[in-house]
Amino acid sequence: MTSSHSTSSLLTLYDLHSHTTASDGALTPTELVDRAIAMGVNVLAITDHDTVAGVAEAQAAAQGSSLAVICGTEISTHWENHEIHIVGLNITADHPAIEALLAAQREKRLVRARTIAERLAHAGIPDAWAGANRYAQDQLVTRGHFARYLVSLGLASDMAGIFKKYLSRGKTGYVPPQWCTIEEAIDAIHLAGGQAVVAHPGRYQLSAKWLKRLLSHFAESGGDAMEVAQCQQSPQERTTLAGYARDYQLLASQGSDFHQPCAWIELGRKLWLPGGVEPVWRDWPDPRASEQGYKSEG
Ligand code: AMP
Ligand code: MN
Ligand code: MN
Ligand code: MN
Repeated sequence: MTSSHSTSSLLTLYDLHSHTTASDGALTPTELVDRAIAMGVNVLAITDHDTVAGVAEAQAAAQGSSLAVICGTEISTHWENHEIHIVGLNITADHPAIEALLAAQREKRLVRARTIAERLAHAGIPDAWAGANRYAQDQLVTRGHFARYLVSLGLASDMAGIFKKYLSRGKTGYVPPQWCTIEEAIDAIHLAGGQAVVAHPGRYQLSAKWLKRLLSHFAESGGDAMEVAQCQQSPQERTTLAGYARDYQLLASQGSDFHQPCAWIELGRKLWLPGGVEPVWRDWPDPRASEQGYKSEG
């Protein structure tokens, strides 16, 4: 370490939302860990959709490095006709409660994926089941994999275009999901020793009134935290979300939701919390404490 390192090297950089090839991420757990280290991240949560399958490989890859890997998952839930994503952080991967809930979610994904493929077939788009699974490489199938297959057919130039035309609510390939409830997700996360976090609250296209209703319901159901900081958000949104975290007495989290290398989202980028909120990691051991010669406060 040279003394030219800026003060930022003294701060622990947390990125608590990311995906690997275990769900719809493009990088293997090992590749994701290598990239996080290169980006200066110190604590990375792997939060694949409805699975923890990528965590063990990531933790092995991070052994002896400057990076600690947190075992997480991102659970799709159903609330008031909206799909709300709940991140679980620091869960015990093999706890029966979380294992059972995630297994049920994956079964629902399978059923939904077959129905999506049937609907697309009716619309004249062949082989979507096989096509999506080629992209999923025998791991869990998401709409993201269908989107990649449809892009490969030239049906739109990018995934966003595919979602807009085929996969979002009301479109040919949209199948209303049967996900678990927010309460079920929180309970399983807690039984597995973890903290429950509302993922990307700014991305549900909820009015302020409905977003507050969601956060209020989440907090009343025992939820712990909400994501406040992401790299692709306006300063205004970050400030607003920090205010909600205070209002509903939720801890604050931050994460890139990294899926693949691209120009606008990067691991660890622009992740910091506004003042006045309590970080979700406030009671976690700082993985750099011994390295820096700090003593934990107990
Ligand atoms: P699923 O959980 O199977 O419903 O798939 C949802 C995933 O699709 C999200 O986690 C995103 O990774 C991806 N996704 C959703 N909407 C879009 C979009 N407009 N453009 C690109 N990817 C999207
Ligand atoms: Mn995704
Ligand atoms: Mn999500
Ligand atoms: Mn995500």
